[in-house]
Amino acid sequence: MARLVAAITALPTAIPLRTGGFVPCPSCDGQVRYDRWHRGASLCCSTEGCCEARFNIAAGAVWPAKRLGAEA
Ligand SMILES: [Zn+2]
Repeated sequence: MARLVAAITALPTAIPLRTGGFVPCPSCDGQVRYDRWHRGASLCCSTEGCCEARFNIAAGAVWPAKRLGAEA
């Protein structure tokens, strides 16, 4: 769970819809791939078992929000 929070924190804030990319994983030597679409987002580290998650996001919401750590 801590790795997942760290990975989310490493993402750029307010990812535009229908875009994705990679950021260096803060927990290992891998790369975290992220994708953002209309009603959700996903992230997945290139290192198996590191971190992976999908999110359902309300339409029009900004994700990740700048202060995500407080609620995660
Ligand atoms: Zn990782």
